[in-house]
Amino acid sequence: MPLIDLHTHSRCSDGALAPAELVRKAAEAGVNVLALTDHDSVAGVAEAAAAAEPLGLRLLPGLELSTMWRGHSVHVVGLGVDVAHASLVEGLARQADARGERGRRIAERLEKLRLPGAWEGALALAGGVPNRVSRTHFSQWLHAGGHVSSLQGAFDKYLGAGKPADVPMPWMELPEAVALIRAAGGTAVLAHPGRYPLTRTKLRLLIDAFRAAGGEAMEVATATEKPDMVRYLGQLAVAAGLDASQGSDFHGPHMPWIHLGRFPGLPAGCTPVWRRWFNEADLPGQLALPVG
Ligand code: AMP
Ligand code: MN
Ligand code: MN
Ligand code: MN
Repeated sequence: MPLIDLHTHSRCSDGALAPAELVRKAAEAGVNVLALTDHDSVAGVAEAAAAAEPLGLRLLPGLELSTMWRGHSVHVVGLGVDVAHASLVEGLARQADARGERGRRIAERLEKLRLPGAWEGALALAGGVPNRVSRTHFSQWLHAGGHVSSLQGAFDKYLGAGKPADVPMPWMELPEAVALIRAAGGTAVLAHPGRYPLTRTKLRLLIDAFRAAGGEAMEVATATEKPDMVRYLGQLAVAAGLDASQGSDFHGPHMPWIHLGRFPGLPAGCTPVWRRWFNEADLPGQLALPVG
């Protein structure tokens, strides 16, 4: 049975592995179809594609855009995008500049909290590329320095929404992200809908807004969701007429509870999003609607 993982990160955003290493690990884990979906970046796609070819692994060029919806941070995955599309490239440059700016401001706040050296620390963890610095890198730096006891603790104490080193971001609005992905020939997928701090009513509003903006699919099966939530998300996808996606959201071996290619199956009745790129001969047994 082909294994399909449509949400992963490399060192080109906040993942730990180089794109080629990620592809090799995915192949070792039995993954046949992999999407590289770095945060606000397609920089790793060429390296990943080159590494995938000789392994017979199919690589879908992708990304995960940071967006705002009604003041909430919401992620939109784009799958099958043309990584050279001009408006996408321009939008990504804007996001990257904003990210670099925010990184410095987060570091200033941490300095004021008597945590000097945060910028240099996070920057080193981001491979020395200022526009790639993410909160993940700050959390790793805080953890390595013994200032928090876990990566999650860094978000709870400093980096999460409303915490002392939270710097609000001018990410693009949700409809712009969907439009950019579609203009670049990709499919827009609402990322991990179960992970936003939204009531069920608001989550349905988000899904409606995403669909109204041209969104085509939503993640239903992700590694960190409990079976009840996966079933619920499957129902929401079917009700909204959205295709269903799946993926690990793998970031690297430093998060050992997440494995490439490992997450629950899609619930009954969902339409797999990968039918857009593959036929039965490509992926035997994976295109029928899941029956349970
Ligand atoms: P950024 O894009 O810089 O805002 O960083 C967001 C990234 O931080 C996400 O993609 C996750 O990898 C990570 N992250 C966000 N919230 C948490 C959390 N509560 N605990 C651990 N990691 C988190
Ligand atoms: Mn991340
Ligand atoms: Mn995300
Ligand atoms: Mn992700």
